[in-house]
Amino acid sequence: MVMPPDYPKILIVDDKPQNLYTLERLLIKLDVLVFQATSGFDALALTLEHDFCVAIIDIQMPEMDGYELVEMLRSNQATASLPVIFVSAIYSDEYHHRKAYDTGVVDFLSKPFVPEILLSKVNVFIALYHQRHRLQTLVKQLNAANDEILRFNQELEDKVNERTEELQRAYRQLELLDRNKSDFIQVISHELRTPLSVFTGYSQLLLNMPQIQSDEMLSRMVSNLHTSSLRLKDIVNAMLEVVKVDSQTLELHYVQVSIADLLDLVYRGFRDALTERNLSLEMVGVADLPLIEADAQALHKVFKNLVNNAIKYTPDGGQITIRGQLQKDEEIAPAQSFVHIMVCDTGIGIDSEVQELIFTKFYHTGDASYHSSGETKFKGGGPGLGLALAKGFVEAHGGRIWAESAGYDEHTCPGSQFHVLLPF
Ligand code: ADP
Repeated sequence: MVMPPDYPKILIVDDKPQNLYTLERLLIKLDVLVFQATSGFDALALTLEHDFCVAIIDIQMPEMDGYELVEMLRSNQATASLPVIFVSAIYSDEYHHRKAYDTGVVDFLSKPFVPEILLSKVNVFIALYHQRHRLQTLVKQLNAANDEILRFNQELEDKVNERTEELQRAYRQLELLDRNKSDFIQVISHELRTPLSVFTGYSQLLLNMPQIQSDEMLSRMVSNLHTSSLRLKDIVNAMLEVVKVDSQTLELHYVQVSIADLLDLVYRGFRDALTERNLSLEMVGVADLPLIEADAQALHKVFKNLVNNAIKYTPDGGQITIRGQLQKDEEIAPAQSFVHIMVCDTGIGIDSEVQELIFTKFYHTGDASYHSSGETKFKGGGPGLGLALAKGFVEAHGGRIWAESAGYDEHTCPGSQFHVLLPF
């Protein structure tokens, strides 16, 4: 019968072939491969070729006895830990047992041995062999899994690097496009400025002429022309300022600013629009705010835009509230105190997905067809520069601006809150 090669191997060593025969007859009852050696030299030769789970060695042999054989086995790294069971009839007194243990023999059997005892001892080593085998298989599997993970990691890293490179390329392209756009805006705005000034100047002149003033229709037409030219001028100026924000060339002129006075100025600018749209504007806690070091003109533009938006995106009859308070901002400067101003409305609200996007230039969520509508009309869209500018100005002051809203709904009007933090 051909035994499977992964069966545990047992080495039996005895100079008497009949002893080897008896031992083998006993051992083949187990699922093992038995190798015989009739001398210590044969046994050593076999241990070089095979990995045995146990060696059963007779002590008394000519030329090389069992002790010498075990000593030689222990001196070789490959066989140093080979478990050995000694078998002997003559040496079975206590002195020889001790000598056997001293040489590192793990067990001892006296002849004539009881077959069950021999088999149970051998079985322990077979079980150990199987355990070791299973462990080796597990280690191999683990190593293979490890290799797989390493390979997978490498692939992942390659992919991430590839994607990062692609993204960087796309980002560089976008940067270039954005720079081109900024250059374009700057050139166009500069070119528009001169003819616009002529337009505004002459329309103003015309408005003051008695011939025009005496004709109601002409006067209304020229007045519309003049208002439109002023609005266009504001847009062109906003475009130029956005370019400055982008290129970080904004110049701020710091003075002591009273937020309450500033907001009052903004309020007065919109008083007619608020009345026309039946909107109420309330200020809470603003009068108690301290003076801050800031660019008054820049901050005026910030709050003008925020209030203008609150007016534009709140239906008639709604409520706008401006709250002011002092506070810390753990996120940007834990040691610094901030003035916190909130512009809250009862308007159509903002979708949570675009609450950050609305601060990018030319972004608007509304229908483009509303764009020609008046500056304070409900949903009257603008060029989408107001919030980009507000963000640029606030951040140039070392502050922070953000929007909050429960969402966009023109029917339920969840409202929006714009927060501005300014250091003082
Ligand atoms: P615009 O000139 O279009 O008003 P902004 O930069 O001021 O440009 O605003 C960008 C967009 O943010 C607006 O088109 C609008 O969709 C949204 N938005 C700004 N303020 C409000 C607000 N108070 N309520 C609802 N939506 C707002």
